[in-house]
Amino acid sequence: MTAITIFLTPKINIKEEQEKEEALQKYLLERYIKRNQDKKLYLTGHFDPILRDDFVVIPEKYNISGYKMYLRREALSAFIDMAEDAKKSGINLKIASATRNFNYQKSLWDKKWTGYTLVEGADLSKTIPNGLDRFQKILEYSAAPTTSRHHWGTDIDINNANVEYFSTKEGVQVYDWLTANASSYGFCQPYNTKDDNRPTGYNEERWHWSYTPLAKDFTKEYLKLVKDEDINGFQGEEYVKDQNLIDEYVLGINPECL
Ligand SMILES: [Zn+2]
Repeated sequence: MTAITIFLTPKINIKEEQEKEEALQKYLLERYIKRNQDKKLYLTGHFDPILRDDFVVIPEKYNISGYKMYLRREALSAFIDMAEDAKKSGINLKIASATRNFNYQKSLWDKKWTGYTLVEGADLSKTIPNGLDRFQKILEYSAAPTTSRHHWGTDIDINNANVEYFSTKEGVQVYDWLTANASSYGFCQPYNTKDDNRPTGYNEERWHWSYTPLAKDFTKEYLKLVKDEDINGFQGEEYVKDQNLIDEYVLGINPECL
């Protein structure tokens, strides 16, 4: 009896150990998959910043949008340092737009699609009945929902999202200050001049600045986790397959921001 007991005990233990190991591996794999799913939802804007404790409300003194806006905690803190230093040189920096989740971006996009919001003064649903052409026209000004850097809580529009403002005396001074100083606070202009260094993507946006200590990692994770077939849920989604939204737009940024 004793001999059998000695023989059986380790055998049971080995089986138990194997089962424990398998359960651990299964748990780790499930956790890995869940984390990637959560990350993907985040990077594509499927969340509410109000419910996340890594987001904070932008104080009213820096917010000129007229509604409550949120940013990632570190990005806001870097912006405030930058704005306070700019003020010492007579430059006022305020935030006109910050985090825009999927639903928000979808409402901006769909209103342009249906003609509720005019683009270049025109109701595109009437002036561009061809869906593919209309998609490309809206894309000149707006990111397709799922692909906007504004989803990430790292990107802001400073002072005024209009080309005209940046040719006024004030706009020129603001832009000159930002190009000279923003990088020391971690900010980079992703949509800079479109030329050989940045051949694709949106036209230049002098107002749009990105907090790169977070956004560089988000860009890398986005490229790993999000595919063209994940870009949907808005008007004209059937034309996504004819664009190269990830390669030409998500990656169509100033190489210094990568
Ligand atoms: Zn922007």
